[in-house]
Amino acid sequence: MFGQVPPTPYDITFSLFGIPIRVHPMFWLIAVVLGWAAQRPDLIVIWVMCLFLSILVHELGHALMSRAFGNSPHIVLYHMGGYAAYQPTYGHSYWKSIAILIAGPFAGFLLYGVSKLIAYLYFQANVIPTVQVQFALIQLEWINLIWGFINLLPVYPLDGGQILRDVLSLLRLRGALTWTFRVGFLCAILVAILFLQRQAIYPAVFFGFLAAMNFKLHEESSRY
Ligand SMILES: [Zn+2]
Repeated sequence: MFGQVPPTPYDITFSLFGIPIRVHPMFWLIAVVLGWAAQRPDLIVIWVMCLFLSILVHELGHALMSRAFGNSPHIVLYHMGGYAAYQPTYGHSYWKSIAILIAGPFAGFLLYGVSKLIAYLYFQANVIPTVQVQFALIQLEWINLIWGFINLLPVYPLDGGQILRDVLSLLRLRGALTWTFRVGFLCAILVAILFLQRQAIYPAVFFGFLAAMNFKLHEESSRY
């Protein structure tokens, strides 16, 4: 959703399952800013690790599905999220694109399942988890379940918005792109208002930004 991000000397690079991964320094900076409200240094570090793990798993979902279709994806973690980029091979279709898009949130839901399993095992063993473990389990639930669903809202360029675009294109609907941005704009405004009512400032600003983006894209797409 951020386009291609140029490399910096502070990037961390590694590969998992044969997929090259690059972590941009901005990822850590934004993660710390978002987690600052936790106040305690140990909890801020745990929050950053939970965010890192969750976004990595989400992007790996996209990337592994993409590779299953014969692409050579790579992952970049940047800002509040990241992206799994690939050059589509011959025969790329809307169906494949939808499958790749769904695989990201689905991988997140699996990670949420793992965190629930860990909580269940603690409960079964009659052990009360430490404050740090409890905090980590709550963060994993928020990021992977709650934001997993929010990311599926039909707001471009969230995964849900891209799925909407591909579904409308698949249906060969006239003005599929214009409709994608129209729905994205209305939905983003609504979600921004709902967050504002709950005093959730960061998410409200984020959806306000997405509303403006969809408005601009709608203007551009309806010109043709
Ligand atoms: Zn995604």
